[in-house]
Amino acid sequence: MAGLVTAGLAAVVGIACGLPASHTPAPAHTEVAAAAQYAAAPRQSAIDADYYLVDSSGHWAAPRCIDDGVSGPRVQPVFVYRKGSKSRYNNFRVIMQRSTYLTTGIFERSSGTTRTVRWVHDAACQPVHWQVAVPASKTHHLQSLRQYLTRHDPRFRRTDRVYSLWVDSTTSPTWSGLGGDRWSATWSSSWGFVWVDAHELVHALGALRSDAPHATGKGHCYDGYDVMCYKDGGPGWQKFTACPWPSSQYRLDCGDDDYFAVKPRKGSWLARHPRANVARSRFVAKVPARALSVPPPPPTGVVRNQYRVTWQVVPGVRYDVGTLDADGSITWLAQDTTSGETLLVDPSLRVFVRAVNDAGYSPRVRAVLG
Ligand SMILES: [Zn+2]
Repeated sequence: MAGLVTAGLAAVVGIACGLPASHTPAPAHTEVAAAAQYAAAPRQSAIDADYYLVDSSGHWAAPRCIDDGVSGPRVQPVFVYRKGSKSRYNNFRVIMQRSTYLTTGIFERSSGTTRTVRWVHDAACQPVHWQVAVPASKTHHLQSLRQYLTRHDPRFRRTDRVYSLWVDSTTSPTWSGLGGDRWSATWSSSWGFVWVDAHELVHALGALRSDAPHATGKGHCYDGYDVMCYKDGGPGWQKFTACPWPSSQYRLDCGDDDYFAVKPRKGSWLARHPRANVARSRFVAKVPARALSVPPPPPTGVVRNQYRVTWQVVPGVRYDVGTLDADGSITWLAQDTTSGETLLVDPSLRVFVRAVNDAGYSPRVRAVLG
């Protein structure tokens, strides 16, 4: 965890997504050796993933209700765990849900809120997660995951679905995720468990073509620090930064000319290649523009005694309550609570409260003895 605190810059270098899955070599006979190598990387905790969510605060947007939530093309988030192991889904459920808010925010904030992700969602417009178990040896690569799931589970055979996998397993240390051809995956061994899923989803939707104006040739771009650009070793890479870090970090397509534009410039490459434009993907909905919220202010009146912590409740805001251990690790006592009180089991713990809404988090407020 401590090593992750300085990861702001490392993120630029480390978003080693790897190639779109359709271009990656098959694991085939090397699978056993590769699995041993993959297994050496540690899986991260929900707290590590939360760290990156905090960084993205202010860029989220609530997923929208699109028709009945299931008809037509949809993106299906899936939590994959290793068969025979206990599922850690409950540790990651909130992270996954908030990450779909970030992905939605990235699409909406890159399109003047006129394009949004067509999630599979419930009656409350919340993306529906599936939980599936896969034999550990099949969990290290998108290709083996895809093969296993399509073979053993008919739900994964639909061509009107994009499967966005959150894999609680390890993968190659050279990438954080893989995506292409309606499938994407990010692994809990990569610190990019959050945000990388948005990047891989854009790959799953077909970006970036190698003939795009600022393509590296390996599925990414070089004209700035948007969601899809990084120095990936591709032959087309050039040193050129039109959109600087970090302002464009949570936006699609610096310059609106390579893979995502609501209105590509007339006569431009993207206008002439509408199928390369993810804004026109069937998994992306055209929606009326709306006003997006900003993160809530920090909670006030945060006081505690030995047995409970209380604070002032603001309507429309939810709260996360956590305890901070000496080594900096966090245990959540409550997340998304709308009450103004949480009971404390251990009176010696340091307690903090933060507010959360559709756009992100407030700073944490430490509870003082009242
Ligand atoms: Zn990538």
